[in-house]
Amino acid sequence: MQTINMASPLLQWYFDNERTLPWRLNSDPYRIWLSEIMLQQTQVITVIDYFNRFTAAYPNLEALASADEHDVFKLWEGLGYYSRARNLLRCAKTLVSQYDGQFPQDLKTMLSLPGIGPYTAGAILSIAFNQAVPAVDGNVMRVMSRLYASYEDIGNPKTRPHIEAMVMANLPEDRRHFNQALMELGALVCTPRSPQCDLCPLTGICQAFKQSLVTQLPIKLQKIKKTKHHVPVALVFSNHDILLVKKSGEGLLSGLWGLPLVELSDESPADDMAKSALGGWLSENIGIESVRWEVALGETKHVFTHKTWLMTLWPCHTDVKPQVDFPEMAWVSPNDLSHYPMSTAMLKLIRQTKPFAHLREV
Ligand code: SF4
Repeated sequence: MQTINMASPLLQWYFDNERTLPWRLNSDPYRIWLSEIMLQQTQVITVIDYFNRFTAAYPNLEALASADEHDVFKLWEGLGYYSRARNLLRCAKTLVSQYDGQFPQDLKTMLSLPGIGPYTAGAILSIAFNQAVPAVDGNVMRVMSRLYASYEDIGNPKTRPHIEAMVMANLPEDRRHFNQALMELGALVCTPRSPQCDLCPLTGICQAFKQSLVTQLPIKLQKIKKTKHHVPVALVFSNHDILLVKKSGEGLLSGLWGLPLVELSDESPADDMAKSALGGWLSENIGIESVRWEVALGETKHVFTHKTWLMTLWPCHTDVKPQVDFPEMAWVSPNDLSHYPMSTAMLKLIRQTKPFAHLREV
């Protein structure tokens, strides 16, 4: 791979323009790891508060490793993609129990840890330990594709090794700052839709700029096709308490609390069908054989990576208050709802559905 002498102007630009962010205060691998996991699929501005709260509660690996999953989920609440929080905890426990509380400094071992992929491993190894490893995220894919005028599809996993080779061909001794500088350029200047080439330190060597290809690159052909699901959700009252259930297993939202729900096909279900599906779930899983339904309240949309939920809240009442082990469940006073970590989708549903928004203010 041809070197394009980008390191020096890029580093100079970075030292003049880098944003002050809490995870950049030092090169502690714990803070770098945590920030990189939080930044996956989430904007910097959102992550800052979460990062500060999280590091105040768990200032180091040992503190996190001894945390309870419920408390970790509670701190993560609203950040979405909860599998990240689950893997974070697993990884911390693994590092403390098997690696003496230290991050390994070789790529192979790093990649064997829960929730750590090539990008996160590269970021930790280069930023914390100044190792010669690329850290290729979406920003870096875009910047390198433009610099080299590459027509390879960045949505295709086979393109990653080629982009990594481009980074490696240009990696200077200061890997710690080079990888961060590339990401920062992608975030601030070489943005997806309106790159500010007039502010870029690399116009002199950028092939996309020279060939007027900036708006055409990078190529991204593969799009995730989202499926649409109608999701009736039961707001079950018994006296003044509300039924909450905890999602078990390993899948989407597992480990989080919420109202009982059923996921139906993409056809909009008739009211009777929605109530029948929810009633069946309550009977089968909780032992509630009959409820008095009220009218449904509005529709709330939530978009996941691979699918969209259209949620409808169905208030209902029951005279019985069964207590069963599976799924994990609780009858909760509305005032105590905020003690239970819930998914972003569930919070949105409760907050957006008047007159129940007051049930969950935080
Ligand atoms: Fe991106 Fe423009 Fe800089 Fe090229 S010159 S790297 S397209 S901002």
